[in-house]
Amino acid sequence: MIKVGINGYGTIGKRVAEAVTLQDDMKIVGIVKTKPTYEMRGAIDANYPVFASTKNKIPFFESKGIEVSGVTEDLVNLADIIIDCTPGKLGVNNMEMYEKAGTKAIWQGGEKHEPIGTSFNSLTNYSESIGKDYVRVVSCNTTGLSRTLYPLLNEYGINNVQAVMVRRSGDPKDSDRGPINSIEPVLNVPSHHGPDVQTVISDLNIQTMAVKVPTTIMHVHCIIVELESEPDVSRVIELWDNTPRVDLIEGFLHNEGNKIRNLPGTAEIMEWARDSLYTRGDLNQIAVWKDGVHSFGNKLYYYQAIHQESDVVPENIDAIRAMCNIESDSFKSVEKTNKALGIN
Ligand code: NAD
Repeated sequence: MIKVGINGYGTIGKRVAEAVTLQDDMKIVGIVKTKPTYEMRGAIDANYPVFASTKNKIPFFESKGIEVSGVTEDLVNLADIIIDCTPGKLGVNNMEMYEKAGTKAIWQGGEKHEPIGTSFNSLTNYSESIGKDYVRVVSCNTTGLSRTLYPLLNEYGINNVQAVMVRRSGDPKDSDRGPINSIEPVLNVPSHHGPDVQTVISDLNIQTMAVKVPTTIMHVHCIIVELESEPDVSRVIELWDNTPRVDLIEGFLHNEGNKIRNLPGTAEIMEWARDSLYTRGDLNQIAVWKDGVHSFGNKLYYYQAIHQESDVVPENIDAIRAMCNIESDSFKSVEKTNKALGIN
């Protein structure tokens, strides 16, 4: 049993903790919180040992009746591997602490690739993380782009990718994020997403742009791929149908000449995830609109939706298996993780 500690129990941390608990080859030995806020609820119900981020915070937890098992360093010493889910750009400061304890660590997409040295996606470069001490699971957007581009690269070869990320402004719980009534473009081109995909699919020729919109539930990607040969749309759909963690959805249904709204947008997709009884109503899979896939010559056009809070969760589980040398075959790990999480 791999002993897993979670440092930073927010949007990603609590989901990775739940996913670890569902596996039979790893377990949670503790979670670190900075404050005894409402997000403690899940940790307490699941009986995870709670560690305070620093010693001076312990009385605050105790004043709320929460038993504290120690501080961050104690959890780091206890665990075989730490999943660092602290806010982006903060987590990498913990590397020295992990090094000192000889504990492996996984960071998230808010960190830069360089200081960590290895970036991870289950489908594209699992083997690079086998036995590694420090790995970064790429961001939600990069995970989504990688999952659908990689099968195209293998089947057709890719000359160039151009993609626009329509990004949610904050997560549903983030009432302090904006914009509320504005659409904000990222004025640097390429946006960081394209170069980030290159950390898990090297040599891919990709440029990205991004705009932030006032929604909280999903990102949408508009993607144009210039392939090395002319694609057949039905073959492309078949490829994605056979790709783990990609779900093909239909925006509209057609009946006797009528066009019926089915899953035309992100609101309906998240309702469908809730109807499917996925944990928390999350959608770990990337949703690709089957009726939005088109080709003109060598160019393929498609749209996909990313549930930013959850698509990276299964990748964290696979990264643990690779780094701790418990599975060298990516497909076996992906299959095991998916089965435990109830996803395809
Ligand atoms: P979050 O703000 O929801 O959670 C971060 C948690 O870390 C909070 O509970 C915060 O209190 C805690 N924290 C802050 N300082 C800490 C410290 N010193 N020690 C321990 N805990 C501390 O953030 P998140 O959305 O879960 O993001 C975590 C990482 O995951 C970031 O790198 C982010 O870029 C990445 N990520 C986020 C999303 C997303 O959409 N939310 C998607 C993919 C990747």
